[in-house]
Amino acid sequence: MAARLVIFGRQGAGKGTQCEFLTRHYGAVHISTGDMLRAAAASGTDLGIRAKSYMDTGQLLPDDVMVGVVQERLELPDVAELGFLLDGFPRTVPQAEALCALVEVDLAVNLDVAEDVVRDRMLARGRADDTPEIIGERLAAYAAQTVPTIAWFAQQDRLVTIDGVGEPSEVSNRLTAAIDARLGAQ
Ligand code: AMP
Repeated sequence: MAARLVIFGRQGAGKGTQCEFLTRHYGAVHISTGDMLRAAAASGTDLGIRAKSYMDTGQLLPDDVMVGVVQERLELPDVAELGFLLDGFPRTVPQAEALCALVEVDLAVNLDVAEDVVRDRMLARGRADDTPEIIGERLAAYAAQTVPTIAWFAQQDRLVTIDGVGEPSEVSNRLTAAIDARLGAQ
């Protein structure tokens, strides 16, 4: 079964670890827009140069740019064969609408860890790009734009929310149980 999934989670919710697990478990193609933009920035493409100023300040790129990037990736043949796990996209309601007009999405999964918890984790990590200002900016963008996007999937009855607090293996088990229950029920 080629699973077609979207995963939501604040930065610091353990989404990277769980995406690795889920792509292995379901054999789907991991499409991380953050990774794609960082690679573009590192190789100095036009997209990368444009993306950098947004990424450096924790702000979102324009929807039309992001939809174009994701559409191109979804058109590659591996996606049709293996399915996908979209990570970091959609982050706004217009992105979600554009995505669902392009492809069928089986389920969106919300890996839920409260804002205070991820803020403390990020600050404890003490990375140079995790200043309190940038962390605050990213969390504000998440609250203003991504939380309504999660609600949009809920309205379509295509959302499961998983408690993201706990041992990584325990969280992985929660994820597969919830995903299999929903995909199997289709
Ligand atoms: P991430 O690694 O997913 O947190 O993405 C890093 C940065 O890339 C974000 O803070 C945004 O500046 C940009 N970005 C990634 N995905 C999107 C998206 N779907 N819409 C707008 N900006 C994005």
